[in-house]
Amino acid sequence: MINVTKAYLPSREKYQRYVDRIFDSGWLTNDGSSTQELERRLTEYLGVRHVVLVSNGTLALQVAYRALELKGDVVTTPFSFVATTSSLVWEGIKPVFADIHPESLNIDPVKIERVLNKSTTGIVGVHVYGRGCEVEAIQSIAQRNGLKVVYDGAHAFGVNYNSQSIFNWGDLSTLSFHATKLFHTIEGGAIITSSTPMYHKLRNLINFGITGPDRVEFLGINAKMNEFQAAMGLCILDEIGHIRKERARVAAHYESQLPSSIMLMKQKGFSENNSYFPVLFNSEESLLQCRESLREVGVNTRRYFYPSLDTLPYLEGNECRVSRDISRRILCLPMYAELSESHLDLICDALKKTMSADKISAS
Ligand SMILES: *Cc1c(COP(=O)(O)O)cnc(C)c1O
Repeated sequence: MINVTKAYLPSREKYQRYVDRIFDSGWLTNDGSSTQELERRLTEYLGVRHVVLVSNGTLALQVAYRALELKGDVVTTPFSFVATTSSLVWEGIKPVFADIHPESLNIDPVKIERVLNKSTTGIVGVHVYGRGCEVEAIQSIAQRNGLKVVYDGAHAFGVNYNSQSIFNWGDLSTLSFHATKLFHTIEGGAIITSSTPMYHKLRNLINFGITGPDRVEFLGINAKMNEFQAAMGLCILDEIGHIRKERARVAAHYESQLPSSIMLMKQKGFSENNSYFPVLFNSEESLLQCRESLREVGVNTRRYFYPSLDTLPYLEGNECRVSRDISRRILCLPMYAELSESHLDLICDALKKTMSADKISAS
C-alpha cells in the first residue's frame, strides 16, 4: 500500500547516537541540551528571531492565543485541519469563519472585513499546503482594527516570502512537528516570535507559568518538548536538504505527468516546500472515481481538507461556500521523500487512465 504520507526516519544508528547523549547526561526533559540545540539550529535554518519548542502543534496554537490574550471572536479559515478551529473552541474563543479565496485557498482578506464585529480580537490564518496567506492585506486589516494575528504555519516549514521567512509575518506563527509533517519530532511543534519579551513570556507559559525558583507569576500549562523528541528533530534537520530535494523530485514528476487542469496555480513571491501535493477536480464525482481507481492499484490518497470546518457539528454560524466547494473537489496525492519513480508512474498512470476514460475534464 502506498499511503499519502510516510514519516521520515533517520537510520537507527544515527538516532541512537543522539539518544546516547541523553542517557549520558541523564537529563530527559525541561530545556535540556538537545532541545536547546534544536531551538538554536531551527532559528538559524528558518531565518527567524526566536523559536519556542513545544510538545505538539495544537498546544502551540493554544499557547499562542493565551500569550496574545485572544478572547471573544476570532476570524479564521474553514479550510484547514480541524485543530486550527478546535484549539480556539478549546480556549473558549468563538471561531468566526471568513471564506477562502478560490485560488490561494487561504482566508480571503475581503471576507475577513465583512465578518468583523465589536468582539473580534484576532485573526488566525493558515498557510494551507504551504501556500502563503495574503500577509500584507491581513496586516493592514489587523492594524486598522486593533487585532492580533496568528498564523498556523503547520504546513509552511521553510517557506519564504520575498526571500524572508513567512514566519516573520503576524504577531506569532505556530508550527506542527507531527510525524506526518515535512519536518518532525515524532510529536512536537513550535511558536515563532520576533519579540524577545514575548519569547520569554512563551517559555514561561509552556512551563506552568513558573518564572524562577519558588515563583509562579501567572497561569501556565505544560507544553514542553522532551529530549527524545528533540533528538529526532536533530536527526531530521541533519537530513532536511535531502528530504526537500526528494520532495521536489516527486512534485516535478507529478507536474510533468498529470494534466495541468488539475494543478493548483503557482503563487508569486512565495517559495515552495512541497509539504503536500493537492489536485483539484472539476467535481466530487470525478474525485471519487479517481480515488477509487487509485485504491484499486494500492494507493491511499486523503481528502485533505474535508469536510470544510464550517460544517463542524459543535459550531453554528456562517456557511462558507467556496471552502465547501473546494473541500469536496480536492485530493492530496502521496508525497514523501522515499516515493519511488515506479510508484509515481503507477499513480500517474491510474489517474490519467481514469480521467480520460471518464472524460474528467478541467476544473
Ligand atoms: C497538523 C496540523 C495541526 C496540529 O498539529 P499537531 O502537532 O498534530 O497537534 C494544526 N494545524 C494544521 C493546519 C495542521 O496541519
